[in-house]
Amino acid sequence: MDDCLFCTIVAGGIPADVVRDDGTTLAFRDVNPQAPTHVLVITKAHHRDVGALAAADPDALTALHRTAAAVAADEGVADSGWRLVFNTGPAAGQSVPHVHGHVLAGRNLGWPPG
Ligand code: AMP
Repeated sequence: MDDCLFCTIVAGGIPADVVRDDGTTLAFRDVNPQAPTHVLVITKAHHRDVGALAAADPDALTALHRTAAAVAADEGVADSGWRLVFNTGPAAGQSVPHVHGHVLAGRNLGWPPG
């Protein structure tokens, strides 16, 4: 989609600090990190949110989760703990309508989230 921020990143139109790229998914550091590790994992194909992705392409949803786990391993937090968050819709604070999981780690994340 022409007016989608994350599609523009996939197309190389905006630079990103990419940490993983497997062809189906892309992982890059969040510009406004909320934890020492804060990486966004997206599908390169445009889907509005995680529900739309699950309905349209379950294999890509699995790939997104696999990439998130690989990022956690790369960051050295696989054993200490990490969180994968999908803000979905306005009440959850989703600001970019292109599916993305937040990989958060590196501090005590607490529960429940705010
Ligand atoms: P959400 O609010 O769940 O939709 O998350 C969107 C995230 O994208 C926020 O945490 C932003 O900090 C992040 N973000 C916005 N623009 C960029 C960018 N150009 N590169 C990396 N992360 C971004």
